[in-house]
Amino acid sequence: MTHADLVIINGQVVSHEATQPAAIAIRDGKIIAVGDEASMPPAKDVLDAKGLHLLPGAIDVHVHFREPGYTHKETWESGTAAAAMGGVTTVFDMPNTHPPTATPDAFEDKLALAKQQAYVDFGIYGLMAEDNVDQLEALAESGVIGFKCFMGNTFGNLPSPSTGAMLEAFERVAPYGLRTSLHAETASIMAWRYERLRKAGRNDALAHVAARPDVVAVEAVSRAAILAEWTGARIHVLHVSSAAELRPMREAKQRGVDITSETCPHYLMMDTHDYASLGSLMRVNPPIREAKDSEALWEALRDGTVDMIATDHAPHTPEEQYKEVIWEADCGFPGVETQMPLMLTAVSEGRITLQDYVRISAVAPAKAWGLYPRKGALMVGADADIAIVDLERRDVIDQQALHSHRARATPFHGWAVTGMPVHTLVRGRFVMRDRALQTAAKGTGMSVKRVQQMTLPTLVNSDKTLAAEVAKANVQQGELASC
Ligand SMILES: [Zn+2]
Repeated sequence: MTHADLVIINGQVVSHEATQPAAIAIRDGKIIAVGDEASMPPAKDVLDAKGLHLLPGAIDVHVHFREPGYTHKETWESGTAAAAMGGVTTVFDMPNTHPPTATPDAFEDKLALAKQQAYVDFGIYGLMAEDNVDQLEALAESGVIGFKCFMGNTFGNLPSPSTGAMLEAFERVAPYGLRTSLHAETASIMAWRYERLRKAGRNDALAHVAARPDVVAVEAVSRAAILAEWTGARIHVLHVSSAAELRPMREAKQRGVDITSETCPHYLMMDTHDYASLGSLMRVNPPIREAKDSEALWEALRDGTVDMIATDHAPHTPEEQYKEVIWEADCGFPGVETQMPLMLTAVSEGRITLQDYVRISAVAPAKAWGLYPRKGALMVGADADIAIVDLERRDVIDQQALHSHRARATPFHGWAVTGMPVHTLVRGRFVMRDRALQTAAKGTGMSVKRVQQMTLPTLVNSDKTLAAEVAKANVQQGELASC
């Protein structure tokens, strides 16, 4: 009989469909058995999970770990430590670092930094911007998990691509099947309103919402969906913040566009009433909107219009976050460590079921990026990425205790939570055990690109792409030359 490295007994194993008592055996990082304790192979190590639930580790497709370039805010070590402590076993890092991840060389440099430090598995996004359209194929081949397109400005002020550049970019990446994640807010509307509001003397926190009303998201989601439909490119709408943008999302899904989306805990759990007490700490892009938006987002998570939960973990130092003039505050705050306690609290309150939570935190992201069922499922053959949680455990979020060492100010500071990850395993290795970070696991995280099995999409209008039309010029010149 083969031996296991670890057997976890007495726990409840949770999938997006069911919760059932079962033991799990792990060998060489993979799950080799799920079932009765009596049927488990002998093991070197046994973990008693009595009273605990075993969830597929969360996959957070939207984090900013700031390295290279902004290590005073976060590093791969601190960011992935925070993930491990939050039950998150895979993260996808955004390209607005310095230098941005806009070329294969920049990708290789970031990959080296991540491999040295990461506690959890990771994917690295390549940038899709106005000035690197000619780099996209090389980035796709170098091993990015997908692309990030900033349709609106955000930290790092990378050039938002024009619609023309976006269409060519979609044409270029569509054949690879890689998904493009969109910061779907229209830059020109926001720049126009910002100038007018600033000149009029609006410096209050709510002016940030006024500069980015929901129409910026409606316009950007609709436009991106049209370009995706025309090319066959796969897209993902990041940080859905409004009720209004759900309509173009639903319509695009109905038309057969391969479009997925995420929202974040702050859009679900806070609203415009909170600006009075939190001020610039709440400044994030897109802005946190009205209570009716939050309600619509909960409903959209339940009905699948919004596919998944992510965090937009966006650390800054407290000095960068607290400003009198709202326009001077850096946007965003840490979130990768607090997502699971906050969302499990929502489970305890009956807002979503535990099955919903597994679907939105693990299954949906794994499927959307071609990682399922290696990631996102606790079944034989899958990677043993497991968040072992105590659904009854009460705690209070304390920003001083967060593992994003340099960026500990969060609007969730002081929130009471029910439900905490207690142990986190990445490919069978403890990265958190009994709520303690396992520092020996630093540097064991791996790029999930090797897991990715993207099927290729059906291309549309491939005879009309810019590349196809440019090639005709070459043919015509060749004909002229041969005359
Ligand atoms: Zn972001």
